Amino acid sequence: MRKPALSDEILLSVEKPARYIGGEYNSYNKDPDAYPVKVAFCFPDVYEIGTANLGMQIIYEQFNRRDDAMCDRVYSPWFDMDKILREKNIPLFAVESQRPVKDFDFLLITLSYEMCYTNVLQVLDLSGIPLHAVDRTEEHPIVIGGGACAYNPEPIADFFDVFYMGESETQYDHMVEVYKECLEKKLNRKEILEQLAEIPGLYIPQFYSVEYNEDGTLKSFDPINPHAKRTIRKEACSTMSPDLPYSIHPIVPYDRGMMDRVTMESMRGCIRGCRFCQAGMIYRPVRNRDCEYVKNSIIEMLESTGYDEVSISSLSTSDYTDFKDVMEFLIPYCSERKINIGVPSLRIDAFSLDLMGKIQEVNKSSLTFAPEAGSQRLRNIINKGLTEEEILNGARQAFEGGWNKVKLYFMLGQPFETDDDVKAIPILADQIARVYYETVPKEQRHGKCQIQSSTSFFVPKPFTPFQWAPMCDEETFSKKAYLVKDTMREQLNRKSLTYHYHEEKQTELEGVLARGDRKLCAAIEEVYKRGCIYDAWGEYMKYDVWMEVFEELGITLEFYNYRERSTDELLPWDFIDIGVTKNFLKREWERARQGIVTPNCREKCSGCGAAVFGGGICYENKN
Ligand code: SF4
Repeated sequence: MRKPALSDEILLSVEKPARYIGGEYNSYNKDPDAYPVKVAFCFPDVYEIGTANLGMQIIYEQFNRRDDAMCDRVYSPWFDMDKILREKNIPLFAVESQRPVKDFDFLLITLSYEMCYTNVLQVLDLSGIPLHAVDRTEEHPIVIGGGACAYNPEPIADFFDVFYMGESETQYDHMVEVYKECLEKKLNRKEILEQLAEIPGLYIPQFYSVEYNEDGTLKSFDPINPHAKRTIRKEACSTMSPDLPYSIHPIVPYDRGMMDRVTMESMRGCIRGCRFCQAGMIYRPVRNRDCEYVKNSIIEMLESTGYDEVSISSLSTSDYTDFKDVMEFLIPYCSERKINIGVPSLRIDAFSLDLMGKIQEVNKSSLTFAPEAGSQRLRNIINKGLTEEEILNGARQAFEGGWNKVKLYFMLGQPFETDDDVKAIPILADQIARVYYETVPKEQRHGKCQIQSSTSFFVPKPFTPFQWAPMCDEETFSKKAYLVKDTMREQLNRKSLTYHYHEEKQTELEGVLARGDRKLCAAIEEVYKRGCIYDAWGEYMKYDVWMEVFEELGITLEFYNYRERSTDELLPWDFIDIGVTKNFLKREWERARQGIVTPNCREKCSGCGAAVFGGGICYENKN
C-alpha cells in the first residue's frame, strides 16, 4: 500500500502541492518491492518543467514496460518544499511510490542544460546520498547522468558514479540484465561499477585520472581501472524502429506543464550541420521514424490524454521526409476535433504555403523562423545554408497565407561576427516587414505586421566545429544587443519591429560549465553550499556568488570562455567518440573561417564519420 511521504498539513503549506503526490493519469504505479530492479529517474528542475521532457517520458516507458524493473519519477522540490524537507529531515522521495530516493538501485539524472548542475546536488543532498561518488557505499543508489550535457561530463564528474553517452534505447535494457547478474553474484559496489564499465557508452569517472599542464589545460586523461575503456563511444540506434520504447500513453501532469500537448518525435538527428549546434552533431545521423507509426502514435496519444494540441518535433521537422504525408493525414483529423498542430523548428526555406495554409485554418498562431544570423556572410560562416532570397520568399508565402506575425531567432557573438553582421539583423527584420506591405493589399491587412526578433548569446559547445572558438564577454554581448536595438530604431518599419535579448550573465556561466573540466567540481559544490539552486531561472541565479567562488578557486572566464583553443589542445571531452570525427570538426572550423558552406547530408555526404552507426541517411545517400 502506497504511504504518502508528506502529511496533508505539509502539502497544504506549500505552493502547488500536486508537484509531490504522483498518481497522474497514465502514470505507472508499480510496487517497488515487487521488482528486482528499482530506478528513480530525476529531472533536476521543478515538476512542471520536468514533465514536459520527451527524453524522460521515453526512458520512463522503457524501464516500466519491463516485468523485472520499475521506474519512478523525481523532480527538484521548489524552494518552499526544499526548506521543509531540510527542517523536518524528510528524505527526498519519488512521486509514484513516495519511497525515499536512496532506497532505489539506480538514480538516473537527465542533464539537458548546464544551469541545472546545482539542482543535481540539491537532489543528492536531500536524498541523503553523499555528493561525491567515491564516498558512496552499498546502501546508496548508483547515480547515472545522461542527456546532452553528458557529452562533457567533467565539470560534474565527482558527483556521478556513471555517465551514459548515447540514446537510452540501446543500452539501458542491457544494463538491467548486467545489474541483475551482479545482484545474483552478490558483487560489491566497486565490482558492480566495473561490470557496468564494460557496457558500451557507459563511463565511470572514478576509474580515470586527469592531469593538468601549468597553464591549466589538460595534460593527460588515463584509465586507472582495467575495466575502463580509453574511449567511450556514443551509443545510437541505427534505425528508429517502431519496436523502440515510446510514450504512446504519456503522463498527463496535474500542473499545465510547459508543454500541455502530445509530442511526436518524427525523426532523430539533423541533416543540416549548423556549426554552432551541438544537438545537430551529437544526434547524427538523421533517422526518420516510420510514417504510419507516427500517424498511429499521434492518434493513440491524443486519445489517451485528451490533449487539444499535438507537436511534431525534431531538430528540423520540415526536413522529415514524410512531413507532408503526416500533415495531410493530421490536418483533417485535427480540424474536425479542434486540435491545434504545432510545428516547431520549421525552416523558412521549407515553408510550403498550401500545407501551412491548411494548418492556419486549424490554429491561428504566429510563425517562428530561426535565421540565426542577419547577414549572408555570417549565415555562411555558421553554415545555416539559408539565402536572403529564401528567407524573403518564405516570408512572402507566409503573408500571402494570411500570417502577419513572425518570430525570428538570431544569435549574437558568433565567431568572426562584425558590427555589420549585427546591424544586418534589424535590416533583415525590416526587409521582411517591407515584404508584408508589398505583398498584402491594404484592404486585406489585419492591422500592421509584427516582426518579433530575439537574440540569444552564442555559447561554444563541445562536439561542434565552434568548440575551439573564443566566447564574448558580458560587455561585448551587451554592446552587440544595444547595436541591434539602436539599428532597429533606424528602420523604416520600426513600428512593426520588436526586439528582445537574453541574459548575458547566465550565458557567461553556461559557457564556463559547457567547456569546463574537473576543476569546476569544487566550484559547483561550493556555490551549492552557499545556497545556489535553480540557476536556470534568471531571477534565482546568484551570479555574484559564482564569481566570488570562481575567484577564490582561481577559475577565470579568460581561461574557460574568452580564449581560443588550439586544435591541438587535449579537450576535457576528447575521450568521447560521437561518431562525428575531430578531423571533420576541424575541417568545418577552417571552412567557417573562410566562410565556405558545407552541403547538407541530403545534398551530399561530407564524410563526418556518423556512418559508423550503420543506419540513417548515411545509407540513403547514393552520391
Ligand atoms: S556520414 Fe555523411 S550522410 Fe552521414 S551524417 Fe555524416 S555527413 Fe551526413
